[in-house]
Amino acid sequence: MKRVYNFSAGPSMLPLAVLEKAQKELPDYKNSGMSVMELSHRSGLFTDIITEAESLLRELMNIPDNYKVLFVQGGASQQFAMVPLNLMKNGKAAYVNTGSWSKKAIKEAKKYGQVNVIASSEDDNFTFIPKVNASMIDPEADYVHITTNNTIEGTAFREIPDTGNIPLVADMSSNILSEEIDVSKFGIIYAGAQKNIGPAGLTVVIIREDLIGNASDICPTMLDYQTHSDSGSLYNTPPTYGIYMAKLVFEWIKELGGIEAIQKRNKEKADLLYDYIAQSDFYASPVAEDSRSIMNIPFVIPGRDLDTQFVKEAKEAGLETLKGHRSVGGMRASIYNAMPVEGVEALVSFMKKFEEENK
Ligand code: PLP
Repeated sequence: MKRVYNFSAGPSMLPLAVLEKAQKELPDYKNSGMSVMELSHRSGLFTDIITEAESLLRELMNIPDNYKVLFVQGGASQQFAMVPLNLMKNGKAAYVNTGSWSKKAIKEAKKYGQVNVIASSEDDNFTFIPKVNASMIDPEADYVHITTNNTIEGTAFREIPDTGNIPLVADMSSNILSEEIDVSKFGIIYAGAQKNIGPAGLTVVIIREDLIGNASDICPTMLDYQTHSDSGSLYNTPPTYGIYMAKLVFEWIKELGGIEAIQKRNKEKADLLYDYIAQSDFYASPVAEDSRSIMNIPFVIPGRDLDTQFVKEAKEAGLETLKGHRSVGGMRASIYNAMPVEGVEALVSFMKKFEEENK
C-alpha cells in the first residue's frame, strides 16, 4: 500500500487509523450483513451512528446545551445563503472581509439584504486579519460574519472579536476542531467536512437555539435551520456515510486526547514550518506574523521562478499538492489535524534540500 503526505487544502488527508477502521467495517457493519452505505437512515444502527457522532462532537467542542448540532448538505457554500435567509430579520448584516471565501459569503448575503463590510484586508492582498470591535457594528445588524481561518490566504483570527449582543456567525470550515474555542461566543459555527471532519458532502452547523425559527418567508424548506433542527437532521436522507466517517474521526480525536492534545500537536507542526521559513533567506511567508493560520501555511521563493520545479520535485518525494492557490501563487502546505508531525518534518527536510540545490 502506498500513502503520501497530502498537503491538499481540501478534501485532505484522513487519519490512516480511520480509513482502516472504515475499510474493515465496509462490507458488513456490526454483523448486519450490510455496509453503512446501505443502511436506512431511519434504522436503529444508523440512529446509533448519528447520535454518537453528535454526542462526540458536543463533548470534543464542549458545546453548551442551548446549541443544536445539525448535519446538513450543500457545503459551506450553501451556508453563505442559509445564514442570511435565516437570520436577516432587520435585513442588515455586518461582514468582515478577510479573503476569497469571505468575499463569496458577502456576495451571496447581498442577495437577501444590506451588507455592511465593517473591516477588510483586501487592499493588502488579505495578508492580515483586521481588528474588529463592537463599536464598528450597527446595533441593528442581525449578525456579524467572520471566516475564522482563511484557507487560501493562510490567515486566521488569533482572537475572536467581541460583538456584544449581536450574534457572531463563523465559517470555520478550515479550522474547526483544530484548537480549543469557546462555542458560547458564537451564534452559529458552520464548516464543510472535507478538512478536519471527514469526506466532502457533509456540512456541520452548530447553532444557538434562539437563532432557529426566524427564516424569511421565501426561505426554501431545505434551507431553513428549523427543518433540520426539528427532524434531528433526518428531514430527508442525510449524507449517511459522511456522518459515519465523521464519527470515526471524532473518536480518533478523542483517543488522541481531545482538542487540547490536537491543538498542541497542530501548534508544534505549524511552528516547525514557520520557524524554518523564518530562518531561511530563500523562502518567505507572505502573511503578517500576528495573523498566521496553523492549518494553511503559504510560502514563496522571492525573486525566483522555481515554484513549478518545487511542486514537481516535492511530489516525486511523496509530498503531494503543495501548489499555492492561483490567487496567492507560491506554495501552500495545508496541515490539518490528520497530517502527522512526520509529514511536516519530511516537508521541512525537502525544503532544506531544495534550498541547498537551488540557492
Ligand atoms: N469556506 C472556507 C473557509 C473554505 O475553505 C471552503 C472550501 O473548501 C469553503 C468555505 C467552501 O466550502 P464547500 O466547498 O464545502 O462549499
